[in-house]
This record gives sequence, C-alpha cells and structure tokens, in this order.
Amino acid sequence: MNICLVEDDLLLGRAVQAALIGNGHAVVWLRLASDARARIANDDYDAIVLDLGLPDGDGLALLRELRDRDTRLPVIVVTARDTIGERIDGLDAGADDYLVKPFATAELLARLRALARRSLGAHDEDAGIRHELGDLVLDEGRHAVSRAGRPVALSLTEFALLRELVRHRNRVRTRRQLEAAALPESEGQSLDVHMSNLRRKLGAPLIRTVRGVGYLVEDTS
Ligand code: CA
Repeated sequence: MNICLVEDDLLLGRAVQAALIGNGHAVVWLRLASDARARIANDDYDAIVLDLGLPDGDGLALLRELRDRDTRLPVIVVTARDTIGERIDGLDAGADDYLVKPFATAELLARLRALARRSLGAHDEDAGIRHELGDLVLDEGRHAVSRAGRPVALSLTEFALLRELVRHRNRVRTRRQLEAAALPESEGQSLDVHMSNLRRKLGAPLIRTVRGVGYLVEDTS
C-alpha cells in the first residue's frame, strides 16, 4: 500500500515508518497538518495514518475536510487521547479505525490489512459506477480517471468537479452547483483555478465553458 503517515513525534514516526517499509509498504511521512493537507490533495494514497495532536492544527479538522471532499480514503487515527468521547469524535469525523498510543506496530499493520480488505470489498460493490464518454473513463468506485487509455492523476477537488460534470453530462452545471459539489468552504483557490488545472491535466478539450452560466461536458459518443 501507498501510505501517508502524519505524525509529529520523531521517535514514534521513525518506528512506524520503519515497520511499514519493512512490511512492503511505501510511506510518505509528514509532521505538519498543512503538509498533509497539500500532499493528500495531490498524491494518490491507499491509506492515511493520522495523529490527532499536530503542531499546526488538529488532525480531526483535517479528517473532517477530507470527508467533506467526499474522499473514501481509509484513515486510521492514532492518538494519545484515549477517552471515550474523543474516540467517538474521531469516528464521527470519518475515521475508519482508531489506535490509542502506545500501540504495537504489529497492531497497526493488522488494522491496515483489515482496511485494505474492506476497501477492496467496497470497490467491488461500486464497480458498476463507471462512466464512459468518448475516450474518457471515470471510475467512481476506483476514484480513477483515464483518457484514451492513459491514466490521468487528479486531485480530489478536480476529480469531484469532473465527476459532477460527467454525472450531469449534456447539461450545464452552474458555478454554484459545481462549488457545492466539489469545493469545501475552507478552500482558498477559486473554481476557475481548479477548472484550469483539471482541463490542463485532461489534455484535449472536454469541458466547455458556457459563458456567464457554468460548465458542461457533452457525450458525443
Ligand atoms: Ca502528536
């Protein structure tokens, strides 16, 4: 698995990173919530191991942002906060699992394996949600996009924008509708920036601008 480890404690981070790598996982280890926010939006991870107490913010807030963006990326919360109330907060915010420090790395590895199995199961159920428009394939279950057979790596926001347009193909989506579907309130970048990045990544023209109204994807196949 490709794992994003968000943990500011150096000793624990090092131990977890070594254990994950030793078990054949690829690991990106980040110590700040801001770094994690940026990397998770742009990189493709299979799971996140998230500490809640971070120097520049609360891991729970980061988790809520992720879930607001509609990502189903598996998240295991790791924290010293072991009261029942805080555990419920973590699960309410969208954590898939919860480990209280101190924990054995073998326990974390076992939880990751369980998440991977669950995640694969979920993909099977959603395998039908696959849109094809000309040379574009958007697979909602796998969160994957390809054009003419070539994978296109999109950020979560770009994916959400494209999915919204594709779900409503041949109909104009207004700027407001697209913002509601893909841009959480905390987003600093405007719709236009994300749309321009999305178009650049998709290559050949696909998304039409309907001036003064919004955007449109047409099914010409
Ligand atoms: Ca911490």
